[in-house]
Amino acid sequence: SIMPATLSAISNGARQGILFKGGTHLEKLASLKVIALDKTGTLTNGKPEVTNLILREDMNQDYFLQMTCSIENLSNHPLAEAIVNYGKKNGVISFGEVEKMEDVIGFGLDATINGENWKVGKRSFVGEENAHLFFNEQTSQLLKEGKTLVYVTDATGIAGVLALQDTIRKETIDAIQSFKKQGIYTVMLTGDHEDTANAIQAMTDLDEYVANCLPEQKVHEIKRLNETYQMSAMVGDGINDAPALATAHVGIAMGGGTDAVIETSDVVLMKNDLTKITKAIQLSKRTNRIVK
Ligand code: ADP
Ligand code: MG
Repeated sequence: SIMPATLSAISNGARQGILFKGGTHLEKLASLKVIALDKTGTLTNGKPEVTNLILREDMNQDYFLQMTCSIENLSNHPLAEAIVNYGKKNGVISFGEVEKMEDVIGFGLDATINGENWKVGKRSFVGEENAHLFFNEQTSQLLKEGKTLVYVTDATGIAGVLALQDTIRKETIDAIQSFKKQGIYTVMLTGDHEDTANAIQAMTDLDEYVANCLPEQKVHEIKRLNETYQMSAMVGDGINDAPALATAHVGIAMGGGTDAVIETSDVVLMKNDLTKITKAIQLSKRTNRIVK
């Protein structure tokens, strides 16, 4: 049965926007040794904006945006939303008919329009040999700035590249500092490019990151951390984080996350505020002292 001290800590947490789904999760947080965090939507606001557009020489901007936005309009990925908004601001009024579309989670979109194959997504998805032609000083500089590059290909090859900038949440740096001060090892797990991940690490002072991380690799990384550290937590917001959240000792969902991730989690941060995790740890320590 649940102890009065635990019940009172749970309701105390709820008042502060920390939703514990049970007493055991609260109890575990006191001995947290490692915390893994997703990047987009967790460390960052998850509201990227297009900052640069680089086109192949023979590519017309209106046509490029028309095609790209018609495809991205069928996806609910944060990058897709940003690209569609950018298109609308730059003259796209209606969307073309997409005959076939496959959403390859963690990679991008594979579509057919007017019988032509178009792909929108990460470098490895559109083909390294294609991407290579567009990998120059400008694109590597954009990556160093922490921007995400989205490659678009038509039947000819790379038609263009979009750079998108997301912003670090205002609480992120304080939260990371606080974890580290408590001796908790911090790791970012992201599906994004190595250079983008590296830039985010430099901005946030995270101990470690794993880039190009597919959902199943996130699970693999959590298993590794579970073996090395006695108590792990994973924080995420997206459907691709749900399996990793379930694997961690304590799964923490951002309140603004998708339903699946909120359902899989043990703790929900109602206001998307990562510093509340420190509050939750304090509540846990206090409660354990009373209960034990
Ligand atoms: P994260 O782990 O950073 O939240 P995801 O696993 O959702 O990212 O996606 C990984 C990468 O796949 C993105 O950084 C992007 O390059 C590419 N990608 C996925 N979906 C899309 C899409 N709809 N449009 C463009 N790129 C995409
Ligand atoms: Mg995310």
